[in-house]
Amino acid sequence: MPPAAVVIFASMAYVITQPCIGTKDASCVEVCPVDCIHSDDASEMYYIDPDECIDCGACVDPCPVDAIYPEDEVPAEWSHFIKINADYFKN
Ligand code: SF4
Ligand code: SF4
Repeated sequence: MPPAAVVIFASMAYVITQPCIGTKDASCVEVCPVDCIHSDDASEMYYIDPDECIDCGACVDPCPVDAIYPEDEVPAEWSHFIKINADYFKN
């Protein structure tokens, strides 16, 4: 496999966006097969670990507010959530 394809595969993930804020019902957490969706009491939303997400898409339909998108389909106004999700797992 060419190196470029490896990089593209490794960087893909699903991303949780704005509508989760105020909902945060964890429906997505229950269906994720690799347990890569996390939050805590001090956070206003859930976040997907981009290094652990296997890009299966199982979390999309259970979300009652359509907050979850593949990274390359995140609406432009919510593109900053790609970094917000990744940053949650850096500490
Ligand atoms: S796409 Fe799959 S692996 Fe990634 S967060 Fe959603 S359910 Fe989990
Ligand atoms: S199912 Fe949707 S609203 Fe509920 S925690 Fe997951 S992303 Fe947030």
